[in-house]
Amino acid sequence: MTKPLYIKMRDSDNVAVAVAEIKAGTQVMDDLVALDDIPQAHKIALVDIPAGGKVERYGIPIGYAIEAIAKGRWINEHMMDMPTPPDVDDMVFGTNIVTDLPSPPVSTWEGYRNPNGGYAGTRNILGINTTVQCATGVLNVAIAKMKAELLPKYPNVDDIVAINHGYGCGVAINAPEAKVPIRILKNISKHPNFGGQMMLVALGCEKFTPEMFLTPEENTPENVIVLHNCKGFQAMMDALMEMAERKLKILNERRRETLPLSDLLVGLQCGGSDAFSGITANPAAGYAADLLVKGGATVMFSEVTEVRDGVYLLGERCIDAEVGKRLADEMRWYDNYLALGGVDRGANTTPGNKKGGLANIAEKAMGSIVKSGTAPIIEVLSPGEVPTKKGLIFAATPASDIVCGPCQLASGMGLEVFMTGVGTPYGLAVAPVIKVCSRNEMKEQWPDLIDINAGPIATGEATLPEIGTLLFHEIIEVASGRKECYTDQHKLFNDLCIFNPAPIT
Ligand code: CA
Repeated sequence: MTKPLYIKMRDSDNVAVAVAEIKAGTQVMDDLVALDDIPQAHKIALVDIPAGGKVERYGIPIGYAIEAIAKGRWINEHMMDMPTPPDVDDMVFGTNIVTDLPSPPVSTWEGYRNPNGGYAGTRNILGINTTVQCATGVLNVAIAKMKAELLPKYPNVDDIVAINHGYGCGVAINAPEAKVPIRILKNISKHPNFGGQMMLVALGCEKFTPEMFLTPEENTPENVIVLHNCKGFQAMMDALMEMAERKLKILNERRRETLPLSDLLVGLQCGGSDAFSGITANPAAGYAADLLVKGGATVMFSEVTEVRDGVYLLGERCIDAEVGKRLADEMRWYDNYLALGGVDRGANTTPGNKKGGLANIAEKAMGSIVKSGTAPIIEVLSPGEVPTKKGLIFAATPASDIVCGPCQLASGMGLEVFMTGVGTPYGLAVAPVIKVCSRNEMKEQWPDLIDINAGPIATGEATLPEIGTLLFHEIIEVASGRKECYTDQHKLFNDLCIFNPAPIT
């Protein structure tokens, strides 16, 4: 099979993406010669584009030519103006409801059921929560001691994880948007991997109090340690060790059971995207998402600024007008949030995205949305909310990897699939993260960090359903504890950056 030089997404597109670097002078098609060196993943003009003319990829304008662009030239981000974002006031809902999804090859997995119901766990972890950053240093010392002295005694427990964060004090706790970080932290503490065990470390003078964090039933000395009430450091360590051991004994009794896919919540996120992300890794994740949803699982995708330019495509897939209106409301909230900071969704793109051939957020969004597959959207959530329905869900979180991840954990995500183009070692201690790369070169560069390579889709060596099905199996194996993803093998865990749109005082 001859490997293609370029990939064109739609017949109407007037640009194509270079599969590998194309040198100036290369005969790209019968009637097209490259006029510049076209870097891998970057765009070549397939026709002469006049000044002000549309630059089309994915069948939509991703920008407008600032000056005339000759056929065969490299199109970079400096040569285009961004399109205006689509209006959310007049979106059409429910006109593209796809029901003939591909069937999954298996319908069960092995997970940990929880006493309070909800989604099942993919790991068995003692999660130790904090009300405030001030408690972090003490907790970190205690956790090192717990891991050395306690964890080996409880072999059915996978890990002990501190939910450290920057919230809790020095913040406008009564500001309307303070509900966002508070909801995220409360819901992370109920993560399905924590088996219903509550352990909270407070300082004693912070604004985010145990009373605010917990229900009255939970807020007892059985579950809460207030450092101010401990007589010195050693007493703090003793109290933490005693409480942790009590919780570990209970968690050690947890066992995996064969469960239906409806007990699994998978989150999708991309980071460090390139122009291949929308051709290989994200559509492969979309295929896996369709398989999961067809099997009854819940799949959550997020990242508002990365859907904003194609949001009408999501509106058409909302199951009804109520869900669609919620989608529009979340878009408006985020537009306003960005405007308050003097920017718009265009602030999303990174130097890595641009180096990877993504000229702007419009192009990035079209490649990002395809990770959601084709299933109907049955619910839209604010950041950190827990789903009430099963199926495909849009959670309106920031796109920042390290902010989106904690939001998805708060929603109960048992496993995250993370698509990358230019590469990031991102990982989460609370739930496994499967890494999918968009190009063969990325897998060659980071063979022991990338779990699944979607690059063969671009080179014609594999089909999208083949890689999507491979990813589906990987999700089931990792969720069931039969396989460790690379981030878990190497213990590559990012800090939890909690989304706080409210003021800091
Ligand atoms: Ca991201």
